[in-house]
Amino acid sequence: MIQVGVNGYGTIGKRVADAVAAQPDMQLTGVAKTRPNYEAEAAVRKGYPLYAAIPERADRFHEAGIDLAGEVEDMVMTADVVVDTTPSGIGADNRGLYERYDTPAIFQGGEDADVADVSFNARSNYGNAAAADVETARVVSCNTTGLSRLLAPLREEYGVEKVRVTLVRRGGDPGQTSRGPINDILPDPVEIPSHHGPDVNTIFPDVDIDTLGVKVPATLMHLHSVNVTLEADPSAAEVRELLSDESRLFLVPEETGIDGTGKLKEFAMDTGRPRGDLWENCIWENSVSMEGRDLYLFQSIHQESDVIPENIDAVRALLDWEDRETSMATTDETLGVGLESLFDGQRQRVVPKSNSDD
Ligand code: NAD
Repeated sequence: MIQVGVNGYGTIGKRVADAVAAQPDMQLTGVAKTRPNYEAEAAVRKGYPLYAAIPERADRFHEAGIDLAGEVEDMVMTADVVVDTTPSGIGADNRGLYERYDTPAIFQGGEDADVADVSFNARSNYGNAAAADVETARVVSCNTTGLSRLLAPLREEYGVEKVRVTLVRRGGDPGQTSRGPINDILPDPVEIPSHHGPDVNTIFPDVDIDTLGVKVPATLMHLHSVNVTLEADPSAAEVRELLSDESRLFLVPEETGIDGTGKLKEFAMDTGRPRGDLWENCIWENSVSMEGRDLYLFQSIHQESDVIPENIDAVRALLDWEDRETSMATTDETLGVGLESLFDGQRQRVVPKSNSDD
C-alpha cells in the first residue's frame, strides 16, 4: 500500500483525500489543515487522521475539541508521497519540507511550472513522471488538464497544426464568497495569450496554441470554445468516435436535454456523483464540427474535480508503481469515471439545428 499524505484540505485536497481512500493500493496517511473549521470537522468525522499544518496553531484544534494525530512534519515523514493542495504559491514554500524528509511530492496547477521536476497529465505524459530521477510532479490546472486530455488523442490520430481556444472561466468556486465578478464580463487577462496556452506547452512543448481568457459571474464550471486545425481532414463523426473512446471525455448527447453547465451539474447530482463532481471533460456532442481541417467544439470543465483522477495517477507514476493504462483504469473504476458508458447503445447522432438570438 502506498501511504499518501494530503497537505491542504480545501476544494482540491478534500476530493484528493476521498479519492486516495477509495484506491485499493493506497492508504491515506492523513490530511493537514491550518484551522479547525467545518472542513476539519468533516475530515475527523470521516476518520481521517488530522495533522496541524501550522504547529503554532495546534492549540486552536484542541480548544475546538478536535484531536490531532500530530504535526504536518509527522505526516510528511510517514508518507511515501505527499499531495500538496495548498493555495497557489504556498506549495512552493512547502517544497523544502518535502525535500527535508526525502518525500516525493505532487503540486497543483496554481504553482509555477518550475515548482516540480515535471508537469503532469495522465493521458498525455504519464511516463515523464515515472522516470527514475523524477521526485516531484505538478498536476496542471483544471483548464490545462481539460485541454491536454482533448489534444492527446487528436495529436496521435490526426496530428495538430494549430490550436485556438477561448476560455470562458467561472469567477470563483461555489464556496469562494470573496471572488467575482458579480455582474460583469471581463477579458481576463486582457493581454493575449492567457497563461493557459503556455501551460499546455508544459505538457506538449511543440503544440502551437493561442488562448484567450474571459471571466464571467458563474461558479459551476468553465466553458472552452475550441478550434483545432488538424493535419488531416476526418469527418465530424470520426472525431466524435475517437473522442468517445476516451474514458475521461464525455460527449454530452443532445437527447439528454442537457443544454448548459447548470444541467450538467444537476445531472451529476442526480446520478449520485459525490459533491456533484464531473471528473470528465464534458464536450457538447453536436458542437463537434469539421470545416476543412478545422475542428470546432465546446467543452465544459468542472474546475473542482477534473484534476482529481490526475492526482491519483500522479501518485502511481511518481513511485513507478503501475503503467499508465493500469493506473488510469484503476482510478476510473474506483471513482466511477466514465459517463460515456451510461449512454452506450442508446445514442442517436442528431443533426445540429441552426439557431439562436444572442
Ligand atoms: P482552497 O483554498 O480551496 O484550499 C486550500 C487549503 O489549504 C485551505 O483549506 C487552506 O486553509 C489550506 N492552507 C493554506 N495554507 C496552508 C499551509 N501552509 N499548509 C497547509 N494548508 C494550508 O484552494 P484549492 O481551490 O483547493 O486550490 C489548491 C490548489 O489547487 C491551487 O494550486 C489551485 O490553483 C489548484 N487548483 C484549484 C482548482 C479550483 O478550481 N479550485 C482547480 C485546479 C487546481
